Amino acid sequence: MTTGGKLPTPTLDAPDVAPDGALFGLWNEELSGALKGFELPRYRVRQLETALYRQKVADLDEVTTWPKELRERVAAAGFRVGMPRIVETFTSADGTERYLIAGNDGQTVETVWMPEGDGGEEGDSSPEVAGRGSNAKKEWSRATICVSSQIGCAVNCQFCLTARLGILSNLTAGEIAGQVAAVLKRHEAEPGRDRINLVFMGMGEPFLNYDAFMGAVRLLAGPMEIPESRMTVSTSGIVPGILRFAQETVRPKLAISLNAPNDAVRESIMPITRKWSIAEVVDAVRHVPLRARERVTFEYVLLGGVNDSPEHADEVVKLVRRAQFPAKVNLIAWNPGPDVPFSMPAAEDVARFQERLREQGVPAFIRRPRGRDIYAACGQLKRTAKSA
Ligand code: SAH
Ligand code: SF4
Repeated sequence: MTTGGKLPTPTLDAPDVAPDGALFGLWNEELSGALKGFELPRYRVRQLETALYRQKVADLDEVTTWPKELRERVAAAGFRVGMPRIVETFTSADGTERYLIAGNDGQTVETVWMPEGDGGEEGDSSPEVAGRGSNAKKEWSRATICVSSQIGCAVNCQFCLTARLGILSNLTAGEIAGQVAAVLKRHEAEPGRDRINLVFMGMGEPFLNYDAFMGAVRLLAGPMEIPESRMTVSTSGIVPGILRFAQETVRPKLAISLNAPNDAVRESIMPITRKWSIAEVVDAVRHVPLRARERVTFEYVLLGGVNDSPEHADEVVKLVRRAQFPAKVNLIAWNPGPDVPFSMPAAEDVARFQERLREQGVPAFIRRPRGRDIYAACGQLKRTAKSA
């Protein structure tokens, strides 16, 4: 999604960063650099940042803090807002929404909105809810946005539907942060006021698109004002990425897709284990300086008959103890996909697995699947991905 037309005005000092003229995704020096030819005072650049990242304008003409003449001149030079836009919405019975969001070249990426209601259903009969005007009652009190970092994924985990796509392309920082902007705008959500969490757990492996992913984090934590403590990134265990992540000053919380009690089982479902063993991944995580009260999450997809026995749970306990950093385990019952040769775990096995971890002192939580009916749940993002 990175290619596009060239700027039509060769006289301008055209930036390398936005060859298609999209401004969304640039801020600070990058933004002033892109607009260097206009010799804008700093406050004009700030006004544009506010318009792009707080107001989330769709068109340069909506930057009303700028004189009309300036908006027109910048547009005439080939610049545009270029914020990713929602082209299709699927709504689940549980309130989850899955979107196809189009970047600048029309390729779509998947993003999921998961509201947490406080008795939201009662609001359904209210006529204000649908209109969501300024007085409208919100149906959610907090929400989580699940963000994609790539189109498709190269990692090839056997249980994941996204893997079936292979890797189609890397997203840019603007395209990653733009998913969040598009969804916030749709729900009129404001991170300063509303409790918005981000999970980088959509399509793709964030640590295989590291620079763009971290660029997006800086944009989200900076002008988009989402605290880094409300963000979680999940990785399948890309050791060089984890080591780079350990050096970051602004960074999300870390989740590791463990998914198996030992290397042998993990290798059979996550071939990446041949490259980096569980011990190597855990060693790399030890380099990440954790903040006060921060815990690393081990995600564990329970696959019926594969990794869900009490003995497996005991192995996980040992593994978490050996890790020697504060950790918790998030258990996810496998979400099915067509032609994916696994089965869902029995409900009692899921409960027993959790109990077994808990009674041995390992904090364990069962993650409720969201939006399974619209293929929005973990590992189900693929069905409708289209290439331009
Ligand atoms: N690529 C990254 C982040 C996206 S996947 C990673 O793998 O960590 C987010 C989570 O969904 C991972 O923990 C992954 O193991 C899990 N997952 C993948 N397919 C799933 C499925 N079909 N059912 C349940 N969880 C799944
Ligand atoms: Fe990629 Fe994550 Fe799916 Fe594995 S689970 S294929 S790393 S998206």
